[in-house]
Amino acid sequence: MTATAFITHKDCWLHEMGPYHPECADRLSAINDRLIAAGMDLFLAFHDAPVATVEQLSRAHPQEHVEGLLANVPESGIRHLDPDTAVCPGSMKAAVRAAGAGILAVDLVMSKEVENAFCAVRPPGHHAEKAKAMGFCFFNNVAVAAHHAMAEHGLERVAIIDFDVHHGNGTEDIFKDDPRVMMASIFQHPFYPYSGTDNPAPNMVNVPVPAGTRGDAFRQIVTDIWMPALRKHNPQLIVISAGFDSHYEDDMGSLGLVEADYVWVTEQLRALADECAEKRIVSILEGGYALSSLARSVVSHIKALADI
Ligand SMILES: [Zn+2]
Repeated sequence: MTATAFITHKDCWLHEMGPYHPECADRLSAINDRLIAAGMDLFLAFHDAPVATVEQLSRAHPQEHVEGLLANVPESGIRHLDPDTAVCPGSMKAAVRAAGAGILAVDLVMSKEVENAFCAVRPPGHHAEKAKAMGFCFFNNVAVAAHHAMAEHGLERVAIIDFDVHHGNGTEDIFKDDPRVMMASIFQHPFYPYSGTDNPAPNMVNVPVPAGTRGDAFRQIVTDIWMPALRKHNPQLIVISAGFDSHYEDDMGSLGLVEADYVWVTEQLRALADECAEKRIVSILEGGYALSSLARSVVSHIKALADI
């Protein structure tokens, strides 16, 4: 058995938000190049992401909102939804594959075809709230995946882990009143989107950290705060909002994580998944905009998932 699936789709290259936008298709090309250069392509099970259906997307978002987004693409050029989030003619083709990747990943780990899966997709999702696209995000890919696992596979407890430099406000918005889903996150604060610190629900284990926080403090927080809460929740599936803009070299934020920290946290989560989730981990790309550190970090993360 190949332990780890790698899921992507060429339509994820079709979404663009204008010249020089940091959330660009080159991110996925950099990941692919590095994966091949590292010889990792021999060890992974490659899959094309399917299209997420309106029904699947509508578990995380109101159906009217989903249909509105799908219909709101320009015939040419770019249309802005907020100052940093825009759609082009191919945007929704990419967005439904990004969400569909998480759906397939859940199906693959539930059927035990693989132990875990990484989804190299864009647009990212964790800022997408129930009824609001924002922050480069349209559909909340991790939320769609978690809902699919509960609705189609009958899971009762899921954990979402988020180590992106930004708070996953969308994921919190979708699950704050749903005790089946626990979210554990770390994020730079104060920083965009300026959320995650006011009266979080009991199932939201959000840890704001100041700019300049490095890996030693990150590991302490994971050990002291995330892990006890995660063991208590006892998730049957772990979904990762894998954002690599928390890397030291990424100018989008000011945290100081490096590849070894992503490997370490991945190993902690694999140990947890071995204990309570029959090894099941679904990891979905969020941020990460410095192409070199993004690609190195993703490959390190996948090596840790695949235990290579
Ligand atoms: Zn981010």
